[in-house]
Amino acid sequence: MTDLHRLSIRELSEGLKTAQFSSRELTEHYLKRIAQIDPKVKSYVTVTAEQALAEANAADAALKAGNAHALAGIPLAHKDIFCTQGIKTTAGSKMLDNFISPYDATVVAKAKAAGLVTLGKVNMDEFAMGSTSENSYVGATSNPWALDHVPGGSSGGSAAAVAADLAPIATGTDTGGSIRQPASFCGLTGLKPTYGRVSRFGMIAYASSLDQGGPMARSAEDCAYLMNVIAGHDAKDSTSIKKDVDDYVANLNGTAVKGLRIGIPKQYFNVAGLDADVKARVEESLKKLEEMGAILVEIDLNMTEAYVPTYYLIAPAEASSNLSRFDGVRYGYRCENPVDLMDLYKRSRSEGFGAEVQRRILIGTYALSAGYYDAYYVKAQKVRRLIQQDFLKAFENVDVIAAPSAPTTAYKIGANLSPTEMYLGDIYTLAVNLAGLPAINAPVGFDKDSLPVGLQLIGNYWSESQLLSIVHQYQQNTDWHIKRAAIAEENA
Ligand code: GLN
Repeated sequence: MTDLHRLSIRELSEGLKTAQFSSRELTEHYLKRIAQIDPKVKSYVTVTAEQALAEANAADAALKAGNAHALAGIPLAHKDIFCTQGIKTTAGSKMLDNFISPYDATVVAKAKAAGLVTLGKVNMDEFAMGSTSENSYVGATSNPWALDHVPGGSSGGSAAAVAADLAPIATGTDTGGSIRQPASFCGLTGLKPTYGRVSRFGMIAYASSLDQGGPMARSAEDCAYLMNVIAGHDAKDSTSIKKDVDDYVANLNGTAVKGLRIGIPKQYFNVAGLDADVKARVEESLKKLEEMGAILVEIDLNMTEAYVPTYYLIAPAEASSNLSRFDGVRYGYRCENPVDLMDLYKRSRSEGFGAEVQRRILIGTYALSAGYYDAYYVKAQKVRRLIQQDFLKAFENVDVIAAPSAPTTAYKIGANLSPTEMYLGDIYTLAVNLAGLPAINAPVGFDKDSLPVGLQLIGNYWSESQLLSIVHQYQQNTDWHIKRAAIAEENA
């Protein structure tokens, strides 16, 4: 079969169960595509062909024995921020260029236990700091829709791999938009779960109070399948929540939109820098949802202007603390011939970290320093609470909140935006992490340059099933999620 990469997760699962093809054939099919097409996309940092084939054989045996999990034998790619035992985990950093974790992240362990086949590790901005994936020390990844454009970030490798059909599903992480924005730039569906729903154990920390892993895929249904595997309480992550998980696949229903109250924040659609095509496509998608029975309600989110400054204090502050462990002694990169301990620290860190990471460590250290702690860090925490309250107030009147995922479509590689311009591009995603809420990106069309546009739906806590169902129903009535980039149509 030459078109195995066109099948959805449900179709793959059925095909494997009924022995229309084996996991071995499916895995070889994907490995062949990666070998031939990925040199143009550059989504993979590490391809784990040998392990993948061994896992595929094991899945085939389980399938034959009739005791396989629903996803057994289906390949996936992991963002290179999830620790994988025996396989390099770089987090996109020279600092971890030779880091081999002695254990699996919980997300990776759960995927393995379900019989999913690991194709490899995919590219990302260094330590998940960025919005283009250009901050990776291995270099830029291309957007499958236009190879001279970025796939977004920080989970840009995950998005590019799925959009080029080099993996059917991928894991990503989202600290301030890193699942939703690359999903938007690459025409995919991506879910950022409620904080605490997916274990952070073994996920290299950027900003611990904001970080959350989640699925990236073509459709809400595919995301639901992966959520069923990765969600759940984990005793190894103290911020993981003890709450039963939904069966996200069984919960998908065709009636989520009827009577749904969708809040449209006035402030969001007046943001300077909101691209006219993005605005138009998002509005068209809302119109479609209205035709399907949703009720659009104009709302106020008065804290909008505070999102970017608040996030860009809190996230760097936490990062400066988290990244202090990379000292040239315990992990990763160590400078040559240090003259003394201070020299070892200084040079290992200035040679091992890239420019954006160093910028954030400096900002974060400044915000946490004794003289400025109250003025910046404490103040930002207070504003964070107000942002959360703003959302909770809105949810008294609406079920979900609609927004673009990003004010623009994908940037050109090398566009070289200033840090502040880049940070302003995160305006629509940051608040969700500050409040710990779940949100989803769904593809809703293209701009004049044929680059994908995404709609973001923000839900109340634990509304993952609802968000997936709304997008599922939208996708049953539209075909944006089925459209393929030209490069994905290439046969290996
Ligand atoms: N672009 C944002 C940042 O650079 C968000 C990144 C993320 O979610 N990991 O911090």
